[in-house]
Amino acid sequence: MNNGANRVIAITGGSRGIGRAIGLRMADAGTSIYFNYYDRDSRDAEETVKLIEDAGGRAWGACVDVASQEDVQNFFKKVVDECGRVDVLVNNAGITIDTLLVRMKEKDWDRVLAINLKGAFHCLQAVAKIMMKQRAGRIINMASVVGMMGNPGQANYVASKAGLIGLTKTAAKELAPRGITVNAVAPGFIDTHMTADLPEKVKDAMLAQVPLGRIGQPEDVAEVVAFLASKKASYITGQVIHVNGGMYM
Ligand code: NAP
Repeated sequence: MNNGANRVIAITGGSRGIGRAIGLRMADAGTSIYFNYYDRDSRDAEETVKLIEDAGGRAWGACVDVASQEDVQNFFKKVVDECGRVDVLVNNAGITIDTLLVRMKEKDWDRVLAINLKGAFHCLQAVAKIMMKQRAGRIINMASVVGMMGNPGQANYVASKAGLIGLTKTAAKELAPRGITVNAVAPGFIDTHMTADLPEKVKDAMLAQVPLGRIGQPEDVAEVVAFLASKKASYITGQVIHVNGGMYM
């Protein structure tokens, strides 16, 4: 496990929110951070590259749809051509398309599952082959508190996050013999674009469920990801680490 300088870190959905905070938290001198995002016009991505470089890291962002296996393979080909390895993968890209189960359109079910769950499978498969040769690596999947609790209006999203937890445990068992750890982080209610547009009534109801009485910040999640990606976490695999202010215990 390359735990020191010159780590190569791949983050999906790294242009903003939690993904950006993870990149910034791990942006030591010498570290190379490859991230992707979906919006072709993303000024967020340019800003993220600058912030990581200001923090001393190297950064490259690419417009990739993680739902496309071809896009994902091209993304990791670039990483391996340039660096020859991947030390850490953070499967963070995710979207919501919320509505009640009885109204949910099949295309909205499919799109959320394709990005949140199949996207993680695409990246995991691409990176597992590289890490198996290295006989080392760290994989962290971004689940959600609702993957444990359920949540009305989010059947597609909740199914994707619950699926990601199962995928994490299976990958952890398959890859442990090669020195690769696979864990999930399950954030609660975090202050990002994803939650910004929720109606105030919904936000208040969510906050009322948080014993610590505040919304989480992307940095709260990034800290845990950085720990799981470090040498200090070498005996932790197949776990779901909750970062939710006590919302789910
Ligand atoms: P966010 O601010 O909306 O960021 C989502 C990131 O995913 C963006 O970089 C976005 O790129 C990227 N993305 C979207 N579709 C993609 C695709 N098809 N291919 C590649 N990248 C794609 O959301 P966030 O709150 O930081 O969420 C990050 C992760 O945490 C998600 O998996 C989410 O489910 C999980 N999570 C969030 C919360 C919360 O309360 N915020 C709670 C639990 C779990 P563009 O900006 O270019 O679209």
